[in-house]
Amino acid sequence: MISLSRKHIDDLVEYSKKEAPSEACGILAGPPTPEEKFAAGRLRRISKVTKIYLMANADNSGQTFLMDPKEQLKVTKEIRTLGLEMVGIYHSHLETEAFPSSHDVKLAYYPDSSYVIVSIKDEASPSVRSFKIVEGKITEEEIEIK
Ligand SMILES: [Zn+2]
Repeated sequence: MISLSRKHIDDLVEYSKKEAPSEACGILAGPPTPEEKFAAGRLRRISKVTKIYLMANADNSGQTFLMDPKEQLKVTKEIRTLGLEMVGIYHSHLETEAFPSSHDVKLAYYPDSSYVIVSIKDEASPSVRSFKIVEGKITEEEIEIK
């Protein structure tokens, strides 16, 4: 499970609209140790997002995204300096559902990371979903909004 504030969700949606017709992308950062809580009879790990980075799409594409390596390095350094960790990668879909494309799966290099996708296909009611992608296998995870 990944935990985001309402403000973070709103910022991601707003940025997705602003970056159109290119996909938007960015990094979600939070404390290195996930919170744990009992819910529905089992222990659940919650990655808490405390800071979001809205980044440039170096692909300049409406179908794919690529974080600019220089910007990614800078953000990664800042996250480390703050004592945080990258807990998620965010990007937008303009014309398709908030579900990983085959291209997304191919480029999912971080098995510990959450992949948050914002779909603005229906601009009036955008959808936000989160997934783990491990060795090509997609598993949806719950988003807690606080
Ligand atoms: Zn995608």
